[in-house]
Amino acid sequence: MTTPAKTPMPVLFIGHGSPMNTIEDNAFHRSWASLAGQLPRPAAILCISAHWESRGVFVSTGERPPTIHDFYGFPKALFEVQYPAPGAPELAARIQSRLSDFGVQPDSRRGFDHGAWSVLAPMYPQADIPLVELSLDTGQPGSFHLELALALDFLREEGVLILASGNIVHNLSLFDFHNPKPLGWANRFNQRIREAVETGDLQTLARPHALGDDGRLAVPTAEHYLPLLYAAGLRRPGEPVAFFNETVLGSISMSSVIVGDY
Ligand code: ZN
Repeated sequence: MTTPAKTPMPVLFIGHGSPMNTIEDNAFHRSWASLAGQLPRPAAILCISAHWESRGVFVSTGERPPTIHDFYGFPKALFEVQYPAPGAPELAARIQSRLSDFGVQPDSRRGFDHGAWSVLAPMYPQADIPLVELSLDTGQPGSFHLELALALDFLREEGVLILASGNIVHNLSLFDFHNPKPLGWANRFNQRIREAVETGDLQTLARPHALGDDGRLAVPTAEHYLPLLYAAGLRRPGEPVAFFNETVLGSISMSSVIVGDY
């Protein structure tokens, strides 16, 4: 007798936008809260966040990582948010060993940045699911991140939720707080990337600047875009992808993706 194959854990890319989404009762906050109710409960979470950039790849190995408030100019209430999820040193050690080809190194002092907790606090407010973060080596090309993503596939079989957190379009210097109307290039790039995710066009996804001015404006620096490559790279042949929160606010896209059945 064969045991029926278990459905692998879906993979998320979440456009996180402003950290205020954590404490505001808005559409993004509500979508994250309801999403958690639709997914199987994860055994642990691995977050790849725009807000942990590094040279070389690191994994957080602390048992009780602190909450990092890595922003400024926001209300006091946001600085008071704590996300006391436990770490998962054993899982982190296994990730390090499985990804030895990528030279992954441990970081026992690393805390949880807001790319992780701004989304996870609405999703799992109890903060009772073990959480590990993997850093983004932003000096590496898209192809590197796609390969690294593939090496994380084993986690899906273990019920680990891989949460990639960034924004497909993220240009703060062109962001107008008084006018959230989507900019033309932002809309175009967002749509082009959506199509590339849907068709599994990893070559296009790996080189956003090959899309010309739209790409250079949407991805002025790599850190918010690169997490998307983890979700796209982890999609198995034939797996569904579903987009949600498809809102472009000026020069920031909140578009988010669920990869896999759930
Ligand atoms: Zn961010």
